[in-house]
Amino acid sequence: MKKRIVGNWKMNGSLAANEALVQAMLAGLDPQAIEAELALCVPAPYLAQLQSLLSGSLMAWGAQDVSAHEQGAFTGEVSAAMLKDFGCRYAIVGHSERRQYHAETDALVATKAQRALAAGITPIVCVGETLAQREAGETEAVVKRQLAAVIHAVTHCTNEIVVAYEPVWAIGTGKTATPEMAQAVHAVLRAQLAAATEHPKRVPILYGGSMNAANAASLLAEPDIDGGLIGGASLKSADFLQIAAAAKA
Ligand code: PEP
Repeated sequence: MKKRIVGNWKMNGSLAANEALVQAMLAGLDPQAIEAELALCVPAPYLAQLQSLLSGSLMAWGAQDVSAHEQGAFTGEVSAAMLKDFGCRYAIVGHSERRQYHAETDALVATKAQRALAAGITPIVCVGETLAQREAGETEAVVKRQLAAVIHAVTHCTNEIVVAYEPVWAIGTGKTATPEMAQAVHAVLRAQLAAATEHPKRVPILYGGSMNAANAASLLAEPDIDGGLIGGASLKSADFLQIAAAAKA
């Protein structure tokens, strides 16, 4: 399977800054050297800009969230069909920042994943434990509970999702899980997928949490780490390109 490297810009950017960043990435991309599938998940107002900059390039684009509702009186929400209108390949769902600051539950995240799939968008389902949960020995139970809610909701479409293991204590902190720590959790998730789908190897399991140009290769060398979800380092073209280059099949 090709590795996948997906940037998550979070709430950063401006028309001018995005243009410069994306142009620098495109200029530095050597199609011969890149084996991975690449994508950038950006704030919703910039999807049209990314569509225009990235159409016909090696990079796909996506959103950082999607509404659990189909349409109607949901002020401020963005539907899966709207994301599809702007050519999104992906929508991140259940990012820990949304679980934490917007009280998103496992059930809501599962509904969002369903909405994305129904519109032909691949949900990138984020799971991960907090530091307190890790220290209490709850990592496995937490990530399995989070993924189980999505598997239960999407049933036979499970092999169409992407999973991202993002330990909350590693996101934006500069603290990365060691390759062994990440691999151990990825193996748990792979086994859970194996019980739910005939093609568990088709479901990419990305690692996210302070992945950068220096640590990407060792993380991506682990057998069940199929790519990365990259926050801070996706805002720097050189770093993102180095991570992309490290993602060999
Ligand atoms: C993220 O936001 O999904 C993430 C992994 O962030 P960072 O790479 O900055 O830790």
